Amino acid sequence: MAEPMHCYRHPNRETRVSCATCGRPICTECMVATDVGIKCPEDARLPRGARAGVMKTDQVLRSILAGVGVALAGIPIAYVLFLLPFTWLISAAAGYGAGVLINRAGGRNGGSVAIVISVLATAVPFLVLLAPDLLAGVLNPRPLIAMVFAVIAAGVANRQI
Ligand SMILES: [Zn+2]
Ligand SMILES: [Zn+2]
Repeated sequence: MAEPMHCYRHPNRETRVSCATCGRPICTECMVATDVGIKCPEDARLPRGARAGVMKTDQVLRSILAGVGVALAGIPIAYVLFLLPFTWLISAAAGYGAGVLINRAGGRNGGSVAIVISVLATAVPFLVLLAPDLLAGVLNPRPLIAMVFAVIAAGVANRQI
């Protein structure tokens, strides 16, 4: 590190600091202190994205366990939801909560694996309750719309910012 580098955003400025993620040199004005070290503004803006895909096996397993729990607990919850007004709104809130739960169980990584687990876990209780209707060929739009809202909310809770 003896040799001075030049900030990639300000080529005329010397610096001895480089980004912890991409390694590009950055001057003191550009550098952003994060909990994982000094970063360039671009990488500092994507702390969750930078961690994406590093979900460890045990985190995936914990997400799946949380998903199974959500699916089981969701059956009575969805049953009650169907009896309430604004089912779609409450379903969206419940789906988001389920997504956050699964996200936390997986170490808050989010990403595609967490989204798939959340979406499946949220859809299961609805599908279980709707199965008799679906098998009988009855298409009741109200619970279907509620399911769509819940599933989307669960996915949104696990998006990477
Ligand atoms: Zn960087
Ligand atoms: Zn700079």
